[in-house]
Amino acid sequence: MAKFVFVTGGVVSGLGKGITASSLGNLLKASGLKVFMQKFDPYLNVDPGTMSPYQHGEVFVTDDGGETDLDLGHYERFIDEKLTKMSSTSAGKIYLETINAERRGDWGGQTIQVVPHITDSIKNKVYQAAKSSGADVIISEIGGTVGDIESQPFIEAIRQIRMEQGKENVVFIHVALLLYLNASKEYKTKPIQMSVKELLSLGIQPDIIVQRTDKHSSKEIKEKISLFCNIPTTNVIDAIDKESIYEVPLEMYEQNLHGLVLDQLQIKTKITDMESWIKFCEKIKASKEEFEVTFVGKYIELQDAYLSVIESLKIAGYEFKRKLKINWIQADKLNESNYKEVLQNAKGILVPGGFGDRGIEGMILASKFARENSIPYLGICLGMQIATISMARDWLNLPEANSTEFDNSGAVLIFDFIRGIDVQNLGGTLRLGAFYKTTIKEGTKAEKLYGSREVFERHRHRYEFNNEYKKPLEEKGLVFSGIYEEKKLVEMIELPNHPFFVGSQYHPEFTSRPNKPNPLFKGFVEAIIMKTK
Ligand code: GLN
Repeated sequence: MAKFVFVTGGVVSGLGKGITASSLGNLLKASGLKVFMQKFDPYLNVDPGTMSPYQHGEVFVTDDGGETDLDLGHYERFIDEKLTKMSSTSAGKIYLETINAERRGDWGGQTIQVVPHITDSIKNKVYQAAKSSGADVIISEIGGTVGDIESQPFIEAIRQIRMEQGKENVVFIHVALLLYLNASKEYKTKPIQMSVKELLSLGIQPDIIVQRTDKHSSKEIKEKISLFCNIPTTNVIDAIDKESIYEVPLEMYEQNLHGLVLDQLQIKTKITDMESWIKFCEKIKASKEEFEVTFVGKYIELQDAYLSVIESLKIAGYEFKRKLKINWIQADKLNESNYKEVLQNAKGILVPGGFGDRGIEGMILASKFARENSIPYLGICLGMQIATISMARDWLNLPEANSTEFDNSGAVLIFDFIRGIDVQNLGGTLRLGAFYKTTIKEGTKAEKLYGSREVFERHRHRYEFNNEYKKPLEEKGLVFSGIYEEKKLVEMIELPNHPFFVGSQYHPEFTSRPNKPNPLFKGFVEAIIMKTK
């Protein structure tokens, strides 16, 4: 029988609720439990797949092709488990499914209401996650802030789950802000009290309060929260600012967050073994010297749009005891007349994934510069596509070479709609998830990096390399190092006579984990370090 932990947020958003939930997941996993995590988002969009990266940050992709909230990336990196579509649900999805069921006549003309129909549907998502994952503990984060109109059905649903399952099977954790008044130099517990009051009015007494603060709080503060919020002082945990988010599990461990949860859930475990996590944090602390990546992207004003790429670079850097420094370049600011000057000191160039035509020509120039000047280059999805287009333009004397996505007026479409895949049945026509086996060519850098001839990585793209141009490009020296043989789709490219020039049609950033960077990132970072030694 699975047990449940629900994490809510109070006072303001952006308190690191996801990191708290992930840290608890990390501790429970280190205690030998099987953990599954899920996020409920109160917005009405059906999924994050079509939401603007400017507003919502990265779309994290799961193995089973779920387009999810970026918090799932934290979850996976902290608990080192593959999550699924079951891990991400928005209010929009719940309402859509419920209304579709009503339209189908599933309820035989009953009146459909938020309680019980929407709340039942939310509860089902929690119970289904428990069933399909077979986990010992399901940690569910409720997005938004308690008191929001949108999140009320979720709060009501978890209240009912506690009633159904009992206190020994359900823990409520509330993450809220401990306010600091700079003028009077004092901490104020009132916002936390108010948000707990709000929770209580919805029928939920939190079991543990995690207060976000800049430093450890005094005994008096904890006593005050204990008194007003009706929990023992031991159940008030400080979430203090850390230099790295990866230090948070150890901080929570010190304060016995796992012990509180395990006790209440009456789970007996042996020890909570933090050894490998401690080692990882030691690597972070030892990473003083920097390595620099020139990041040529479209959404650089909002770095959350590249969260997993950035974390993958950091994680890879720690393996070499190096700290990441990013030189951000807005792709559409690069042009023929300035690119050489702007990029002249680049140590390594990365072009990440993206959609639409803005900045494409700038990215093409960046990949060309890396190619022609022996600068390590990693092209992810779009970054692989534009690198290939650039080679076709330069080497095959096809100046109009392009992808249908950016310009379909010319005849030279190096990337085009998915060929050989049933476009009709792909929903939004994206190739999603880790369903496609990449066969790696023998003797390539890719083989060396992966140490394997077969890999499954996660995809999220629409356009594929047009095999008409494969032979001509091979003759000029491009190596197609990874192929999805079943449909003959290009998955990876590389240049042999270059320190590191690698592109992948898939997204390697979704599978980097602490102590286990994705091989492409590790290879890229190593090449940068070698070059700057
Ligand atoms: N826009 C490109 C495509 O759809 C690349 C997508 C991506 O980089 N994720 O194929």
